[in-house]
Amino acid sequence: MDKLLVICLLFLTFSKGCKKKNTQPKEVYFYVQKTNDTTYYHIVSNSFAPIEISARLRKNESKNILVKGGLVSSKDTLFNVIKTSNKLHDEIGQSNFLSEYIDTSFYYGDSKTAKHNTDYLYSLPIEIGQDVRISQGFNGKSSHTAIHSKYAIDFDIPVGTPIYAAREGTVVYAINNFKKSGGKNYVKKANKIVILHNDGTFGAYSHLMHNGTLVKKGDTVKRGQHIGYSGNTGFSRGPHLHFAVRLPKDICVPIYFEGYLNTIFKKGDIVKRLK
Ligand SMILES: [Zn+2]
Repeated sequence: MDKLLVICLLFLTFSKGCKKKNTQPKEVYFYVQKTNDTTYYHIVSNSFAPIEISARLRKNESKNILVKGGLVSSKDTLFNVIKTSNKLHDEIGQSNFLSEYIDTSFYYGDSKTAKHNTDYLYSLPIEIGQDVRISQGFNGKSSHTAIHSKYAIDFDIPVGTPIYAAREGTVVYAINNFKKSGGKNYVKKANKIVILHNDGTFGAYSHLMHNGTLVKKGDTVKRGQHIGYSGNTGFSRGPHLHFAVRLPKDICVPIYFEGYLNTIFKKGDIVKRLK
């Protein structure tokens, strides 16, 4: 490469995907390569999950720009996402090029290969023997109505309650620096852990307490492993654990738990992890 430049290091919260223009997960970078007459943009990922990228021209008349999306594998590079002439690129300047011409969206996961294993019985993410009340289940009217949350489950547990991996996998996201809770403007301010499962789905454990994670990106976790402590951070009305399993593009899927085959938890149910 003649010239490599990191030009974008913006941050994306996992739970909502990325629909903002030209923002992306912070572990994903655009790199610029220039030859004598052509400018190329490549995407390099340091993520532990595959990431799907859609990219399109914002201006139809910009015929001298070729744009394609695709899948960048974990710790890999997707080449030639954007190709244009140096003349056009340098006219507008590198800092304005993306914002003027290109729309990009980024999602964790590979939607072509991910397929939720509906036979998998999840382990309750709570301590063995503990009675826990369900405060919201599938399609809960309070906040489990969107495509990314409709099969989420809320466990009514106090701040500082140990939580455990419901399924084995690789940690692809872990954040624990938030302290506060509030209304919808706090939706991107929840501490959380996201674990990639071997069927391509993601388990998300949300609203964890400040400094309430015991795992970090890249860690392999076992089913039943103590991974953190519940809390009340982000868009939350009170202490609880919000647990959801999602396909790529934030599509929440129904799940069932060991000891509760085909049981749909409802608000007010008391559940207990037996082993
Ligand atoms: Zn919830």
